[in-house]
Amino acid sequence: MASAASSGAASPAADRLADWDRRHVWHAFTQMQEYEPLLIESGQGAWLVDNAGHRYLDGSASMWCNVHGHRHPKLDAALASQAAKVAHTTNLGLSNPTTVEFARRLVEVAPPGLEKVFFSGDGSSAVEAALKMAFQYWRQAARPEPDRTRFVAIGEAYHGDTLGAIGVGGVDRFTSLFAPLTFAAIRLPSPGGPCPATDRPAPALDEALATLDRTLAEHRGTVAALVMEPLVQMAAGIYVHPPGYLRGAREITARHGVLLILDEVATGFGRTGTLFACEQEGVSPDFLCLAKGLTAGYLPMAATLTTERIWNAFLGPHGDRRTFFHGHTYGGNPLAAAVGLASLDVFREEQVLASLPPKIARLWEHAARLGRLDHVGAVRQCGLVAGLELVADKATGRPYAWQEKRGTQACLAARHHGALLRQLGDVVVLMPPLCVTLDEIDQLAAAAEAGIRAATEA
Ligand SMILES: *Cc1c(COP(=O)(O)O)cnc(C)c1O
Repeated sequence: MASAASSGAASPAADRLADWDRRHVWHAFTQMQEYEPLLIESGQGAWLVDNAGHRYLDGSASMWCNVHGHRHPKLDAALASQAAKVAHTTNLGLSNPTTVEFARRLVEVAPPGLEKVFFSGDGSSAVEAALKMAFQYWRQAARPEPDRTRFVAIGEAYHGDTLGAIGVGGVDRFTSLFAPLTFAAIRLPSPGGPCPATDRPAPALDEALATLDRTLAEHRGTVAALVMEPLVQMAAGIYVHPPGYLRGAREITARHGVLLILDEVATGFGRTGTLFACEQEGVSPDFLCLAKGLTAGYLPMAATLTTERIWNAFLGPHGDRRTFFHGHTYGGNPLAAAVGLASLDVFREEQVLASLPPKIARLWEHAARLGRLDHVGAVRQCGLVAGLELVADKATGRPYAWQEKRGTQACLAARHHGALLRQLGDVVVLMPPLCVTLDEIDQLAAAAEAGIRAATEA
């Protein structure tokens, strides 16, 4: 299906750009043989504008990371003001005032006990750093337990695309090919459900926690850490965990002496209704991985927060080789830190979290309504994100053949109704920036409905 851009009055220059895009740019998670260029040239608030002048609601928050909208004046100003000082230094052995301030502010807003901030460039790297720190920790702890070399992860988990991250990842269609290159995590079934009618049901809370407890007992003394996305597994298809699972997992890991790595790359910065998802169950992890919303969707930056206990195990004279020999060239980049700081100011000044409940409620009203469409088999929501699962037969829950790409078709069709959406397989995801208005949520839902109808009722 042609995008709105390529069907309209594209100028010769736009045609040339589209041609270069097809020929030279290898897009992420995209079959380039089927790729139809759509070039976004500008943005404002929750809206994006392509190079033919078409406007679209940014229904995926520019891949789950935009928070306060595009071209927020305060964020733009912070970026410009930092650029007038210095764009980049290095955090290998030296520092920068803006980065220091940002680290301090992150510690202030993070759950208690997370006092140390390791900066990197993207979510995968934040997870990799946590995995390596946890592994190294057990070699260097006051009472070393070097047999703790393994990681427990959750079914259908997504933690990024680098080799360590796919080792703990469980979305088979992304990872199975590379299995020979990765380490094997110990896998738990996801406590969050897919489409209830189509697949095995999600285990109930007690059963899910009992499985975790039993798994850690079976692997006694050999597990370094449990890694998981708290409350909701996004890339899995918006799998929402039963309330209490996170708190239970914290208690059980603590009891077994296993570290807890929470990947809040997608859930962090307000997406679930609180600044961090883990606040909702009063949980402080040993590692907190942040990226996507960390700079409100402006610049690539990630952070791995951890505790004094972990940090202390890495201290010692140089000759002891306790150093964390790991880092990224742009880690702690001052431009990104400046925007990240300004974003935390915006959270406070614009009372962003307090503005969310009516938006979440409105999104749920629409999601529930769309759930009554003939080919929407399940609806799942956590905070300001909803997933609508398309099925071939609602009565039996029979899925579409994946080759039919119904989710993709629905999102492409929604472009003609003024929204950019991104699917997860056959799950159509509604994940606007937090700044979205109620009116814009209505428009987003209308575009999603039109897209779903076009893809399923034709
Ligand atoms: C997106 C994502 C990642 C990977 O982040 P990148 O910046 O794309 O490397 C890791 N974990 C979760 C939960 C994510 O959603």
